[in-house]
Amino acid sequence: MGNDDYTNKRDFNKTNEPQGDTAKKPNGKPPIFVIQKHDATNLHYDFRIQISGTLKSWSVPKGPSTDPSEKRMAIPTEDHPMGYADFEGAIPEDQYGGGTVMIWDKGTFKNLKKDSEGNPISIEDSYDMGTVEIWLTGKKIKGGYSLIKMKSGNMQGNWLLIKQDDEEADARRRPTNTENKSVASGRTMKQIEKDDAP
Ligand code: MN
Repeated sequence: MGNDDYTNKRDFNKTNEPQGDTAKKPNGKPPIFVIQKHDATNLHYDFRIQISGTLKSWSVPKGPSTDPSEKRMAIPTEDHPMGYADFEGAIPEDQYGGGTVMIWDKGTFKNLKKDSEGNPISIEDSYDMGTVEIWLTGKKIKGGYSLIKMKSGNMQGNWLLIKQDDEEADARRRPTNTENKSVASGRTMKQIEKDDAP
């Protein structure tokens, strides 16, 4: 598994995004997730989780919800190199994904997925099956989330990101509205845009 698709879309003479595949060997540390707020042609949240040394990625137009009754569309995008989890800044407007990127949330996750007999299913197998269940420990987003691939209908191939009904569920919280600063730098989108303008 490589990041050819990622590399082919970008001109690294022009964008400050990380180059190539910086995957590290498994080091016994819990896997990471990152949610990057991306003000591109359309504002969206890029949801990325570490699987097999790469960042599996989805574009979530409305971002994650903490309300289990809300299903958020998650459109799969190309694998990103592990180093991308640390990227925050401005991509030149004439480049792929041009616009401001904020590390909106970041943390670790635990795989929750089990078979009907209660045996763990690996994150790789869960991903291939199209039913990922993970416990996120971020600063803004916590608790169980399901990512479900739609296998029929006109949304076939897209996924849904859904909060599981657990003690971290909260139908009133609206973190994408109320928590607007980077967990990496404390900056707003405007500040990142101003500081890092290419
Ligand atoms: Mn994006």
